Amino acid sequence: MTPDRSRVTGVRLQSPHDPEQEQVLEADLVVDTMGRGSRSPRWLTDLGYERVEEQRLTVDVHYVTLLFRRDPADLGGCQNVLVDIPPDATRGGVALAIEDGRWLVTLIGMLGERPPTDLDGFVEYARSLSVPDLHDIVRAAEPVSEARQRAFPAAMWRRFDRLRRLPARLVVSGDAVCSFDPRFGQGMTVALIEALEMGPVLDKGGLDDAGSRLLSAARWAVQDAWDLASGSALANPRVDGPRPLSWRATNAYLQRLLPVAHRDPVVGAAFVRVIAMLARPTELMHPRILTRVLAGERRPRATAPAHPTPAQM
Ligand SMILES: Cc1cc2nc3c(=O)[nH]c(=O)nc-3n(C[C@H](O)[C@H](O)[C@H](O)COP(=O)(O)OP(=O)(O)OC[C@H]3O[C@@H](n4cnc5c(N)ncnc54)[C@H](O)[C@@H]3O)c2cc1C
Repeated sequence: MTPDRSRVTGVRLQSPHDPEQEQVLEADLVVDTMGRGSRSPRWLTDLGYERVEEQRLTVDVHYVTLLFRRDPADLGGCQNVLVDIPPDATRGGVALAIEDGRWLVTLIGMLGERPPTDLDGFVEYARSLSVPDLHDIVRAAEPVSEARQRAFPAAMWRRFDRLRRLPARLVVSGDAVCSFDPRFGQGMTVALIEALEMGPVLDKGGLDDAGSRLLSAARWAVQDAWDLASGSALANPRVDGPRPLSWRATNAYLQRLLPVAHRDPVVGAAFVRVIAMLARPTELMHPRILTRVLAGERRPRATAPAHPTPAQM
């Protein structure tokens, strides 16, 4: 930092093998992409800046992934299945057709629910989901990998955007700002949107306030992803968090839309475009979608899953 601590001038590199060995790398601009474990908030308070407020949403997600041999005729040629977790349940999953004729099947549990890693348990867990598609894949297909498991305790949004002051020439981006519930696969997309916003931010202004301008320019992406993932998690009454009136209205609509998305490819595709961040959430309120949701609700279901909230692509 400059002696008055107003501007970042570089980074100090320390060898993990020899902490005594230190090197200072001077830089015109320092970008913190140190991920969820970034120490920028602590460094800022140590330097006399405001404390960075942290929004957290505890989801206690665990998931297990297995690869299976895929027959192109599986599920009538469908390549992606997303089984959302219904509001009164803790189990969901996803299957993606991937290279070399394989299915990547991930079973998900939230609020401490842990999918099993042994094949029999995995198949049984898939059978317990709200729709049979994943079970149809895993009960018959040959597994071609070991089970891999991961956990994710809480989504976390560090509100650098609410600071009155950031050091000049410091940019914070990616998971260092916001780490999303991985069930929705948004983290890399948001990090990429931020990277793309960086160009215009640097073209249009100087380096000094690039950090706060990038936070403003990319805020829509962080907000959309956060609202979508936290909104879905909050549908479960056991998840702690604020449920304002706007959330209640959106959630009520989504709970009507999702069963229709399961049967109606136009609504299903719109929903997937939104969770993949190819479209803004308002697309789901477009009259074209709204009318299909209302009409779709009135139509009797061909099959009646116990908790009908998946989307097929
Ligand atoms: C279990 C799990 C599953 C996920 N699945 C998906 C998915 O399907 N789709 C999706 O889009 N996103 C997914 N994500 C999110 C995605 O991984 C992150 O959003 C993305 O990796 C963020 O990129 P990043 O560069 O900001 O941070 P990271 O990828 O975390 O990279 C940070 C890097 O900085 C390094 N680093 C940290 N501190 C220092 C330091 N002091 N000095 C030097 N280096 C340092 C770290 O070693 C690391 O290499 C998942 C996340 C988790 C945890």
